Amino acid sequence: MSPSASAPLEPSVEVLDVIGVGFGPSNLALAIALAEHNLGGRKLTARFIERQERFGWHRGMLIEDATMQVSFLKDLVTPRNPESPFTFLSYLHSRDRLSDFINYGSVYPSRLEFHDYLEWAAAKFADQVDYGSEVVAIRPVRRADGLVEHVEIQARDALGDVTTHRARNVVLATGLTPHLPAGVTPGERIWHSHDLLRLAPKLIGTGPERAVVVGAGQSAAEVLGYLHTALPDTEVCAVFARYGYSPADDSSFANRIFDPVAVDEFYTAPDAVKARLLDYHANTNYSVVDPELIDALYRRHYHERVAGRERLRFLNMTRVTEVAQVGDRVELAVESLVDGSVEVINTDLVVYATGYRSSDPDALLGDFGVSWDRDAAGRLRIRRDYRVATAPEVLAGVYLQGPTEHTHGISSSLLSNVAVRTGEIVASISAAAVDQDRQPVGRPTAPAAR
Ligand SMILES: Cc1cc2nc3c(=O)[nH]c(=O)nc-3n(C[C@H](O)[C@H](O)[C@H](O)COP(=O)(O)OP(=O)(O)OC[C@H]3O[C@@H](n4cnc5c(N)ncnc54)[C@H](O)[C@@H]3O)c2cc1C
Repeated sequence: MSPSASAPLEPSVEVLDVIGVGFGPSNLALAIALAEHNLGGRKLTARFIERQERFGWHRGMLIEDATMQVSFLKDLVTPRNPESPFTFLSYLHSRDRLSDFINYGSVYPSRLEFHDYLEWAAAKFADQVDYGSEVVAIRPVRRADGLVEHVEIQARDALGDVTTHRARNVVLATGLTPHLPAGVTPGERIWHSHDLLRLAPKLIGTGPERAVVVGAGQSAAEVLGYLHTALPDTEVCAVFARYGYSPADDSSFANRIFDPVAVDEFYTAPDAVKARLLDYHANTNYSVVDPELIDALYRRHYHERVAGRERLRFLNMTRVTEVAQVGDRVELAVESLVDGSVEVINTDLVVYATGYRSSDPDALLGDFGVSWDRDAAGRLRIRRDYRVATAPEVLAGVYLQGPTEHTHGISSSLLSNVAVRTGEIVASISAAAVDQDRQPVGRPTAPAAR
């Protein structure tokens, strides 16, 4: 059934306070913040819709020795409420690993362990989440006077059946979308890094001669190391435009850009200053690699040179100009940025570790959001409380977690600020609900612009 063909709603369908679209770490943190709010404040009802069949955080990149890029103290709750039962420390305690973790001696757990923490927390909200259900549209429900007090959220399950939910607020936390260069189509032998662990087991043991990894960021370096270990007889080549990998800046002063207070400062800064800050501090997150991983890769490379058997090759200052799958091989044209010469590499596999883009809220909002206030680049204007500046007749709240880097800064798509951000969103939704309760029937408050 197409979304627009969904059955008309029964008048009795409950209007929830919140529907969360996506149930990754951001909306998981929101579920916790709502639950903790409900212990004291006006109760807010919520439901979450997640297209994966079960909870999963970048499963395709849960490489065994990969570590978090953020301190465990920036978990789902601690910066907002260190007394919460959902802290990483509570998780460790419940797994009987607190002492072992202390002895581990690092604030950066493995990604596998952090995933287990997230799953542990998500399991406690299982009854609030529709897994295996993808939100395909968000539509206004207009009253006779044109006001939109709530929205309809249409979700489609694996069988194609569409369910319609109603909510006074919708919180979009749909995460990142894998990015491939223009003209590249993924296939059996051409992957994006986010599919690594889903697809690699099919290749391991089949004796591939060569694998190529495109990119020079954290994922690219991790994929290179992984393939080099998992395919012990395979030549593994890195293709990137830089001279070498650049280290991620996680020094103390630079790290402050991820602090909750930095969001306030960024939000109020003039646009030119925002652009400059994003530029200055891009090397805390984008196209950079954890220095320990750079050292480890370099040592592997050097040891191979000493041993006289080089499997790890670095085609630096190059770019891929063409890629084509031919049977079960891939032909890759790699151009030297130094002299323009082109080498055609015949390989069994190409992994594009070419990053991600924030998912676009307009894709779900469709015509609903067309008339809303935009910046010069056509992006939705977002208030400090992460609420989209909707048209005046829209009283329902549309909140964004993730695609707010242009307004709220570099932590928007990361984990650093999920605890505080979701607390702010809950406070905003709760304040609007209290306002609404105070209004005589038929006279709702218009949302104040901030
Ligand atoms: C490999 C990798 C490692 C990373 N490591 C770190 C790190 O160490 N530290 C850090 O701060 N950041 C890290 N990041 C950045 C990452 O963005 C955050 O860790 C985190 O995933 C953000 O959480 P989220 O819930 O906003 O988005 P996501 O985790 O992407 O979750 C979004 C969810 O929404 C679901 N969804 C999307 N569209 C729909 C729809 N229409 N209907 C229903 N469900 C939908 C998706 O299935 C997904 O489960 C990493 C990113 C990657 C790719």
